[in-house]
Amino acid sequence: MIADNLHDIQQEIQESCALVSRDASAVTLVAVTKSVEADQARELVELGVTNVAENRVDKLLAKKAALADHDLTWHLIGNLQRRKVKQIINEIDYFHALDSLRLAEEIEKRAARPIKCFIEVNVSGEESKHGITPQALPELIAALQTLEKIKIVGLMTMAPLHAAEAEIRDVFHRLKTLQQTTQKQVATCTELSMGMSHDFKLAIEEGATFVRIGTALFKER
Ligand SMILES: *Cc1c(COP(=O)(O)O)cnc(C)c1O
Repeated sequence: MIADNLHDIQQEIQESCALVSRDASAVTLVAVTKSVEADQARELVELGVTNVAENRVDKLLAKKAALADHDLTWHLIGNLQRRKVKQIINEIDYFHALDSLRLAEEIEKRAARPIKCFIEVNVSGEESKHGITPQALPELIAALQTLEKIKIVGLMTMAPLHAAEAEIRDVFHRLKTLQQTTQKQVATCTELSMGMSHDFKLAIEEGATFVRIGTALFKER
């Protein structure tokens, strides 16, 4: 069942890429395992998935320990409290939700090596969402330049859950535009972490390079 879901998603990623003449190898599938136990995550990993994500510190550490026999790339995709930075920062490869200088300074203090970070941007302006405003982005990027342990790899956003396709597409398109502008400031800002189970096809059409997919991988068929 997980194998079938994975196969379908890989197929859909390829189709979406083909639609806009992108190479499917430019899109990384990040499997979000937050809703399942370690044994289901293991099933997925044994099918060849190497990028795994959790949104909470404790759950990431538990999954990582349970899957320690596999060489995986770990992504923390949820917001991170400063007091938990020390516990997690040297256990992950990518952090997708950097949204303040104070948090970055804590990472700078605790990280043993540069951490690949996405800046989370609240493109849609929904109050319920984390992330900085597009207006605040240039200033944050400038401030992060002085921190050696923060390696800005790209921007991340979440589209509104219940919105029309055109609106979701617009959010992704705006993140892409912001990324292109930011890349002039920081050359390493090349990636776009956007798209989840219900909207990853639109995200890929708009330029996503990392899609974060949970539900669609583990759903019952
Ligand atoms: C849970 C989560 C996802 C995956 O969502 P699905 O709808 O299950 O694919 C992606 N990104 C973030 C930040 C999440 O918390």
